[in-house]
Amino acid sequence: MAETIFAKIIRKEIPADIVFESDTVLAFKDINPKAPVHILIIPKITELESAKDINSKEYASLLADLFLTANEVAKKLGVYESGFRLVINSGADSGQEVPHLHIHLLGGRKLTWPPG
Ligand code: 5GP
Repeated sequence: MAETIFAKIIRKEIPADIVFESDTVLAFKDINPKAPVHILIIPKITELESAKDINSKEYASLLADLFLTANEVAKKLGVYESGFRLVINSGADSGQEVPHLHIHLLGGRKLTWPPG
């Protein structure tokens, strides 16, 4: 699997504005934010390119870590009560650019639906 920019961020080889880190998960500000709050929540393992690779219950604990992190980050950044959106792009038609599973956490403004 090709190395991604997120692997370099995990290894701290390139800088990122990190808002949460644990043994399994990293959360950092998106470099090109689409909302006042735009955080990327990623697993530290690099084997999952997208949601379609979640093919086993072996990932249950990691998925819980990702969603628990999303809630904690939403609280920390003040959008837990006002509302926020979690997005996982998977594959070409979704517009996924970085082939490392990530959850976008968007908030801080009224979000429209459906997305483009
Ligand atoms: P995707 O389109 O794959 O779902 O989302 C990838 C996201 O990663 C984009 O929103 C893009 O702005 C963000 N991104 C790409 N490169 C970097 C980077 O080097 N640093 C940070 N913080 N975000 C990045």
